[in-house]
Order: sequence, then C-alpha cells, then structure tokens
Amino acid sequence: MKLHNGTLTFFGKHLKSDFMNEIFTGNFTQQEPIPEEGIEAALNVMRSGRLHRYNLAVGEDGETALLEQEFAAQVGAKYCLAVASGGYAMGAALRAMGIGAGDKVLTNAFTLAPVPGAIAAVGATPVFVGVTEGLVIDLEDLEAKADQASVLMLSHMRGHICDMEALMAICTRYDIRVIEDCAHTMGAKWKDTWSGRWGTMACYSTQTYKHVNSGEGGLLISDDAELMARATILSGSYMLYERHLASPPAEVFERIKYHTPNVSGRMDHLRAAILRPQLRALDTQSAAWNERYGVMESGLRNTPGLQIVERPEEETFVGSSFQFLLLDWSEDKIHDVLARCGARGVELKWFGGKEPVAFTSRYDSWRYAPSEPMPASDRVLAGVVDIRIPLTFSIEDCAQIARIIRSEVGAVYQGI
Ligand SMILES: *Cc1c(COP(=O)(O)O)cnc(C)c1O
Repeated sequence: MKLHNGTLTFFGKHLKSDFMNEIFTGNFTQQEPIPEEGIEAALNVMRSGRLHRYNLAVGEDGETALLEQEFAAQVGAKYCLAVASGGYAMGAALRAMGIGAGDKVLTNAFTLAPVPGAIAAVGATPVFVGVTEGLVIDLEDLEAKADQASVLMLSHMRGHICDMEALMAICTRYDIRVIEDCAHTMGAKWKDTWSGRWGTMACYSTQTYKHVNSGEGGLLISDDAELMARATILSGSYMLYERHLASPPAEVFERIKYHTPNVSGRMDHLRAAILRPQLRALDTQSAAWNERYGVMESGLRNTPGLQIVERPEEETFVGSSFQFLLLDWSEDKIHDVLARCGARGVELKWFGGKEPVAFTSRYDSWRYAPSEPMPASDRVLAGVVDIRIPLTFSIEDCAQIARIIRSEVGAVYQGI
C-alpha cells in the first residue's frame, strides 16, 4: 500500500496533538555539544600553536599522549595509540600483524564499509562470516570458514556482542588472531571483560557518530608490545616514540624501527583535548543511552510482526542505536513502514534494500571481495531496521518514536 501524502500532510497539520497522528520533530543526526571542559582545553591547544602531537614544550606530556595513557588505564590495556580514524586503527592493526597482499581475513558479513575496506586497503581479501538473528557473528559459520585465514577482524556491529568465550575458543583452536572492531562497543562488556580486551588488538572510532566525538579519530589498544611498537611507527611516530606514555619500552622499538614503514595517520592535540573529558563521562553517557534504549525496547515489545533483538544477560551494552527485525516481510511492506514512519518524522535505516541508501553494511555491497550468497544471513539482513539514538533525544522523544513505529508497523502488518 502506498501512502497518500496529501492526507498525511492534512493530518500532520491539523491533528499534531492527536496521539494517533503525532509527528516526531527531533533530528536523528544532532549530537550533543562538546563539554565545556573540552572546549577550554582545545582553546588552550590552539593558543599554544602546538597542535602536532610531537610538538611539546619542555616538561609537557601533551594532550595526545595523556589521552592514550588515560584510555589504556580505563580499559586495563598495556598500550594505547591514538590515530586519525577507526578505519586507520584497523589498517594499522592488520599491517602490524603482517597481513598484506594475498592474505585472507575473516570478518562480519554485517558491518560498516570501513571494516572490509581496511582489509582491502592492505591488499588482503575479506572472507565474510554470516550474521544471526541476534545480529552477531554466526559462530557455526565462523568455524566452517576458520581454516581460511589467520586473522579475524571481529566487528561488534551496532553494539551487539557475540558469546566471546565461544568465539575465542574457536579462534584459539584454529590459531586465529582476533582484532576487535569496537566502534559501537566503547564502554561495553561481555561478562566482566571489556569489549576490546578479548582479542589481540582492538580498534575504536572517535568519529562524530560513535560514543565519543572528535569529528574524526581512532584508538588502538593491545597488550602485545611488538605489535604496538609496529603500529606506532606505522602511524608516523618517526623516531619520537619515546614521547608516548602508553607505548612499549624503547628496546622493542629498536627491533622493528628500521623495518616498519611510515603510513602517517596520527592524532593531533586538538582532538585529544576534546576527547579526554568525554572519556571521563563515558559511564554517565552509557547510562543515558541505555535508559533511552530501554524505553524504545519496552515501547516496541509485543508489536505484532516486529521481532525485538534480545540482549544476552552476559552482555553489558551501550544502547547508542536500536535495531529490530521485520523478519520475512516483503520488500514492499518494509518500504511502506519506512515511508509511513518517515512521514511522521521517524528516520529508519533499513539494511535490506537492493540498492544501499547512505551507507553500505552488507557483504554483497562490497563487490571487490568475492562472496557466495548466505541465505540464512540474507534473511536476517533483509529484515534489519535501525534507528540512531542521539543523546539530544529526551526519554519522552524515545517513547514517542516507539509509539510511532509501533502504530505504523501495526498498520502495515494488518494490511490496512
Ligand atoms: C564507524 C565505524 C568504523 C570506523 O569508522 P571511522 O569512520 O573510520 O572512524 C568501524 N567499524 C564500524 C562498524 C563503524 O561503524
């Protein structure tokens, strides 16, 4: 059924206060302002003129090295390197592990373009592993493909964390090193262990739409001294690596420094300055996200035709976005839901369309990498609907969004 726009505008104008026809007027891409403390620190960096991370006054540690030190402490990692983007961090991790032309790297069939992109950028080929109805990597499919690669780039896409003990058991058995893509799990845990502390290395993004916002940026952590020394030289440390506060000892650099190319991708003091206070606020922010997520979830639970993505008890997640499944719905009906919600101000993202809109998130959109169709994953991907939850939304905003989705999904499902 197609929407009749005229009718809708009419209702929108005249019955805005009516519960059944309420329209959401918030902005799904509006972030919160940078904390004043961060703005002040950024201004101080600009007043100093010393923006490059290795440009330090006598006795000064610099915002970037302090950021690395603080993030390493926060997640209990030995080493941390701040870089230009999350995608850069993933590329550096792969290069540090010696992955290059001709190698294969296991990764998620459902993730964001920078993940297979980072693999392709080092000349390697992604091997896509399927996705479950819980929106996590399919461990059976992982096991079936485990003999094809020595590295798994594990993307905790949309913040959904798989059974990490089971995953690590498979990877240990097949001698696969794990790089975690924690772009959506900064601040999340599986059992009592931070997401990012299960694998050999982990990558975070500090890009505007993630859990902390410096416009662009990334963080790489690991306990492995040699990998982190290589990543540091790769990032463009020159021979100035002793100006880091969360990097391996100098003797480790001695072993690798003449054999590791510079692929510049440093972070600067300005971004580090605005990130440090945001990292300190991560717990509070996570709680605010989860409160909104909870309202969305309870507002949508038991909507006929709509499947909630259940979160396992072992997972402590950060609900910065919300997903639900319209499993086995026809494409036309899903389009109807999107159009009807869109007309009421609720912007839904759907990963199932034949032509990707705005983002690519599924394996068959990355045609530079060969893949066989994965019917079980295709069924899930055809039904995943996604909503951003910026913290500029109030609790009532989230309740309203859920009411709108519930009524429109209900209307289409009943086939009126
Ligand atoms: C954003 C994102 C990244 C990294 O993004 P950058 O824009 O390169 O910082 C990696 N993985 C996922 C799943 C993402 O959403």
